[in-house]
Amino acid sequence: MDAPGQLRDRFGRLHDNLRISVTDRCNIRCFYCMPEEVEFVPRPEILTFEEIEHFVRLAVRCGIRKLRITGGEPLLRRDLPVLVRKLSAIEGITDLGLTTNGILLREQAAALYEAGLRRINIHLDTLDAERFRHITRRDHLDRVLEGIELCRCLGFRPIKINAVAVKGLTEPDIVPLARFGREHDLEIRFIEFMPLDGQGLWLRDRVLFARDILRTLSREIAPLVPVSDGDPRAPAAEYRYADGRGVVGFIASVSQPFCDRCNRIRLTADGKLRYCLFALEETDIKKLLRGGAADEEILEAIGSTVRAKWEGHQVNTARFVAPPRPMYAIGG
Ligand code: SF4
Repeated sequence: MDAPGQLRDRFGRLHDNLRISVTDRCNIRCFYCMPEEVEFVPRPEILTFEEIEHFVRLAVRCGIRKLRITGGEPLLRRDLPVLVRKLSAIEGITDLGLTTNGILLREQAAALYEAGLRRINIHLDTLDAERFRHITRRDHLDRVLEGIELCRCLGFRPIKINAVAVKGLTEPDIVPLARFGREHDLEIRFIEFMPLDGQGLWLRDRVLFARDILRTLSREIAPLVPVSDGDPRAPAAEYRYADGRGVVGFIASVSQPFCDRCNRIRLTADGKLRYCLFALEETDIKKLLRGGAADEEILEAIGSTVRAKWEGHQVNTARFVAPPRPMYAIGG
C-alpha cells in the first residue's frame, strides 16, 4: 500500500483526481465518440449513488481530492442533484466539477447549482447549426446555447467550453468559438481528436493540432501568452490573450501528450476503475462492492490499479492499440 493518503504510481505521479462516469447513455451521437446504434449497459449493472459514494469515501482515504462527474451524458442520470449533494458533502473533497453536452441544462442547471455544483464544462464544437447536426446527428444547438447562458446567470464558475477540433471539419469554428468565449467570459478549450471513437474512424490527418489553432487565434484575434500560474497537472495548456480579454485552453493529447504529469483515474458507469483513458486493462470495483469486500480490499484495489499504471498513452507509437471501450463508455 502507498504512503497513507497517497496514490503514487511507478513513475512518481501523484493521483488526486477521480473522474466518475454515471451513465454511458447519451442524447446525441457525436461521430468521434459513439456510433448511431449503441447497446448501452443494462441499468442494474450501473453503480448506484450509494455505491459511488462508498467508493469515493474510500478513494478520499487514498488521497483523491478532486472529482468530475461525466457520462455518456450525466444529466440523463435521474436525480443527479442527489449525487452532487452526496459527493460535495464528503470531507476531503476540495473540487467537484461536471462535464455535460448542455442539452438538459434548461431543466436541471438550477437544481445542480442548488445541490452545490459550481464548476461546469459544456461540450460544444461549433456555433453553426448545420455543422452541429453533422457532428452530433441531432438538432440541439439552441438548447446548448440556452444552457450556457442559464449557467452564466446562475453563477456557475468557471464555465469552460470543450470543443473537439477535427481537421477538414471544424476549422471554420475556431475563431467564432474563441470570439464567443471572449464575449461571454467563457474559457474555450480546444481538444485534439483522439482515437476513442470505437469505430476506427480516427486518422492522424484528421487531427487539428493545438499549435495550428493557436497560430490561427494569434493571427485572427490577438497574440496569446502562456498562463504561468495554472495547475501544471491540468490537461489543458492555458493561454491568455495579450489584450487581457480572456483565456483559451488546448488539450493536445496527440501532439503534446501530458501523461508525464497525469493525476487522473476513472471510474466507469459499470464500476470499472481505469488508470488511463486509453487503458487496455481495468479493475472490477463493482464486483468488490457487490461481493461484500472489506474496505481494505477496495483500498488495495485502488492502490494496485495506480501502481499498474503505464507511463502514458501509446497513440504516437506503432504499439498503439485502441481501447476496447469507446469514449462514451469511459467518460471524458
Ligand atoms: S492519456 Fe492516460 S496517462 Fe495520458 S494524460 Fe490521459 S489519462 Fe493520463
